[in-house]
Amino acid sequence: MSAAAAPPIVTPEAVARAVRTAEPFSARRVAELDRSETFPEDACRLLDSLGVAQWYVPDLFGGALADHSGLIWILRAVAGHDLTAAVAHAKTFLGAASVFVAARQPGATPADRQRARRLGEQVSQGLIVSWGLTEREHGSDLLAGELTATPVAGGYRLDGTKWLINNATRADAVCLLARTLPAGGARGYTLLLVDKRRLAPGSYRCLPKVPTHGVRGADISGIEFTGALVPAEALVGPAGAGLEIVLKALQLTRTVATGLSLGAADHALRLALGYVSERELYGRRLIEQPHVRRTLGRVAAGLFVAESLTLFAGRAAHALAGEMSVYSAVVKAFVPALVDDLVAESGELLGARAFLSDVYEYGAFQKVQRDHRIVGIFDGNQFVNQSALINQFPRLVSGWRRGPRDDDRVWLAAALDRTLGEAGELELYSRTGCSLVQMLPIVVDRLGDAGAPARVVALAELILGRVAELHTELGAVPPQGVEVTPEAFALAHRYELSVAAAAAMAVWVANGDRHRQPYWADALWLEAALTLLADRMAAPGGRPDPEPLDRLAALLAVDRPVGLLAGDAR
Ligand SMILES: Cc1cc2nc3c(=O)[nH]c(=O)nc-3n(C[C@H](O)[C@H](O)[C@H](O)COP(=O)(O)OP(=O)(O)OC[C@H]3O[C@@H](n4cnc5c(N)ncnc54)[C@H](O)[C@@H]3O)c2cc1C
Repeated sequence: MSAAAAPPIVTPEAVARAVRTAEPFSARRVAELDRSETFPEDACRLLDSLGVAQWYVPDLFGGALADHSGLIWILRAVAGHDLTAAVAHAKTFLGAASVFVAARQPGATPADRQRARRLGEQVSQGLIVSWGLTEREHGSDLLAGELTATPVAGGYRLDGTKWLINNATRADAVCLLARTLPAGGARGYTLLLVDKRRLAPGSYRCLPKVPTHGVRGADISGIEFTGALVPAEALVGPAGAGLEIVLKALQLTRTVATGLSLGAADHALRLALGYVSERELYGRRLIEQPHVRRTLGRVAAGLFVAESLTLFAGRAAHALAGEMSVYSAVVKAFVPALVDDLVAESGELLGARAFLSDVYEYGAFQKVQRDHRIVGIFDGNQFVNQSALINQFPRLVSGWRRGPRDDDRVWLAAALDRTLGEAGELELYSRTGCSLVQMLPIVVDRLGDAGAPARVVALAELILGRVAELHTELGAVPPQGVEVTPEAFALAHRYELSVAAAAAMAVWVANGDRHRQPYWADALWLEAALTLLADRMAAPGGRPDPEPLDRLAALLAVDRPVGLLAGDAR
């Protein structure tokens, strides 16, 4: 950790510009480090020098994080060139999040807030923090964790092991979820921020780096404690509140982590587009083949779906904080899985070059595909997140039955340039269901007024019908215990599609000042996104006409990034 003062706050645009041309993010260098499984030191140093770590700290505690969608944009830009570096650097956001969440809880003490400010300062200056939740024997089942924190005079004694921890070895501090009641249970776990540099030698050891399929250069290791003593100030929030704080912090980290997926999709599409634009077969360029254009259109449409949903959720962390248990679960269950598909489709266009580890941009594609697999695994996989959604089905149904209400918080989350107010309070379960989906009838009504062509409105109405039917089915689902049925997971996936469609529509309507920009005009990106979603919703009466995908593909060009913010300086 450097002792230098934090640099001025960097904008997402400036980070995007810097990584695009910096040597540590060049395709050659990135491939070299991946091949030798070497940590991306130079890339992380560059991100440090830009001041990216300030974005890991809420503005309330002295950082730059006043809008989570800004951090999503930053991670997208970094991951768009090297997902390994993004994972390696952004781990500190995940590691520190619990301390900031604890300091904003209703019962937080002045000491909690003071510690959050101190940590904010340290993180901004380069402190590396990792997050130790998982154990080898228990994986997703956090309530089975066996690492113990036993109260002793002046603090706690730690015994046990956390394994598969990103940056466990390189970190200065680890935020640990530890069992404090022998019986465990929802109130039996406590969070401790452990400063490794202050532990007695021999009371802990870092476990060897674990070789991985993707993110090969990252420090994926573990940490073992044997009677390590930590002071009482290490406590994060009250004793016994560990699980609650972790679940709330995960609402933020799961949302932000999908910025990595957006970057992976950008990278894969960029490679595919570059290749098919140059490749000549049968006397013409590959991009002139209708099937190739359709595939490109589908990938770009999927990217717009992922982006509008992710940016909405990032802003909802402020505008609709009490509903983040819904948005974060939807985003983390849906976006990485969707992007795995988009990457695979891009790979089909690259033919053998998707498979070669040295040819075509130094074999970048196969690295993106391997690296991106991790996004769906850490911080709760698809099923863990769908379970979180399934637990809330009754509230989602009752919210829908209350009928639509024009809610400015939804428009605020959807309007990408509106200034957000102070973040509201996170809740374990949304008391108000999902205001975005509940408002869908109003959003669909507004599409025509906002200038969307009649055929787009018709598509939106078709989707609205499917969403209404889904709520009838959700209302018939019996309460699910530990053994959730496959049918409930299938319904959760349809709910994800509904939230994604509602987010896309709300974002298009709420950003009228962008409607003249290339992808926005004529509601093109929205039409393509809804085409993709309606197809996945398998609406009765046939699949939607895929022609909007071809129109979207016609607009793609190697030098024009795909995205809602493509008109901004990137
Ligand atoms: C590269 C990497 C970095 C990591 N970094 C960290 C880190 O920094 N900190 C940390 O704490 N952990 C980290 N992890 C651990 C990661 O969070 C775990 O891998 C994850 O919690 C899942 O645990 P598991 O792999 O043991 O899978 P398991 O929990 O054994 O699950 C296996 C499969 O069972 C199914 N399943 C699990 N739960 C459910 C459910 N509720 N309903 C239905 N099906 C289910 C899913 O298909 C799942 O994929 C990392 C892992 C990797 C690979």
